[in-house]
Amino acid sequence: MTYELVIGMETHIELDTDSKMFCTCSANFFGKEPNINTCPTCLGLPGALPTINKRAVEFVIKLGLALHCDINTHTFWERKSYWYPDLPKGYQITQYQYPTAQHGYLDVDVRDLTNGWSDQSYRKRIRIRRAHLEEDVGKLSHVGNSSYVDYNRGGVPLVEIVTEPDITTPDEALAYLGALQSIVRYLGISTGDMEKGAMRCEPNISVRRAGTQDLNTKVEVKNLNSFRVVRDATAYEWKRQVGVLERGEKIRQVTMGWDEVLQKTVVQRDKEDAHDYRYFPEPDLPPLVVDETWLNQARTQVPELALARQDRYRELLGISAYDAHVLTQDRAMAEYFEAAVGAHMEHAKGICNMMTGELFRLMRANMLELANVRVKPGQISQLVGLTTANRISSTAAKTVFEEMFATGADPESIVEARGLAQVSDESALRALVVGVLDANPDPVKNYLSGNVKLLQFLVGQTMKASAGKGNPGMIRELVTAELEKRR
Ligand SMILES: [Zn+2]
Repeated sequence: MTYELVIGMETHIELDTDSKMFCTCSANFFGKEPNINTCPTCLGLPGALPTINKRAVEFVIKLGLALHCDINTHTFWERKSYWYPDLPKGYQITQYQYPTAQHGYLDVDVRDLTNGWSDQSYRKRIRIRRAHLEEDVGKLSHVGNSSYVDYNRGGVPLVEIVTEPDITTPDEALAYLGALQSIVRYLGISTGDMEKGAMRCEPNISVRRAGTQDLNTKVEVKNLNSFRVVRDATAYEWKRQVGVLERGEKIRQVTMGWDEVLQKTVVQRDKEDAHDYRYFPEPDLPPLVVDETWLNQARTQVPELALARQDRYRELLGISAYDAHVLTQDRAMAEYFEAAVGAHMEHAKGICNMMTGELFRLMRANMLELANVRVKPGQISQLVGLTTANRISSTAAKTVFEEMFATGADPESIVEARGLAQVSDESALRALVVGVLDANPDPVKNYLSGNVKLLQFLVGQTMKASAGKGNPGMIRELVTAELEKRR
């Protein structure tokens, strides 16, 4: 019997606001001394009253729009009661009955990335059940017999995004999470950095007989913090649950964690421990009303996202799937590329090659962010224009680009100052060819007696003799013609 995997994904994403969700404390807690970003409100002291962070609400509206959700313009806050030392109020303020966004979807391109990049992909629609706002909890650490709590993170705005159970392979889970991470970065609402805990995933995993629509007992795996761990944990659960069913046993509904050392899921909580959250309306906050003006303003702030740009680059500009993917990973990079192409669609491929080749290489080597790159998009376009017009060779273009990268100078002026203009003067090139053939009697002889591979050697020698400035196409023709004369 074959089984398929069924995953509904819950993802928590920390919003990149200046202040916390319900107080004015700084939300920037990374690397800070414990408990310095706190006040009576986020410590849950008696009498302290919360206020709503408008920016956080705006962020979730934009996310909801990007995920094609319906936006609930009239919602209210609710208390989710549970007691745990990292939640000093004894309840979390959240949205339960009416999330700000619901009933949307996210289209993703799914690839088998086990052996590196694959051009083969299929597009899948993952339905979004809801996206709601809440507040993060503090951080507990256990050292020896003591436990410590740091409330700097307590109260930081958090959005929880829940999908329908539409994900059916570990690769689809990764494609979904990658797309979601890209969207929050494009929107500028979160860093989406999993290694810093700004994005955490909890897949709800079950299996069913392939071809059926059954929803069986599911297992929740908590707080996965890297794409690799998501893939390992879902693949492991798939195998484990199939094993349980094959033995004729039942799946227990439990909450699990991932043990990185044992490379397996381990039970954290049984169903019997399930909390009764006793949701009830938060009496200290007014209802949340989003008016039409606010909603429309948010609409104008949702940019074209990565997938739509990839489609456009492939269809209109002839860019490969891989390059389109690479160029759109980062919104600033995609915008840089589009600014460089501008009205010169015929230069798009050349610009793409220059960016994914030379620009990325030099940025890596100099550990430079795009914002600090001195080359302007228009200058890359000019450089590619010089190459396509045969004014400079592709080798010279790389030299020119290096200098552009170092100094920010225009390609034209570099070509002129360094005398890199390509030589297309036939008589000058012919003289060089004759010199090279005279200086290499043996390769000439061997070529004429059938070793045609030596043509490339003689072309290379002539390119060298021209100090890299000869027009390679013309040199090849001239070498061939001069060799024929010597038959
Ligand atoms: Zn506070």
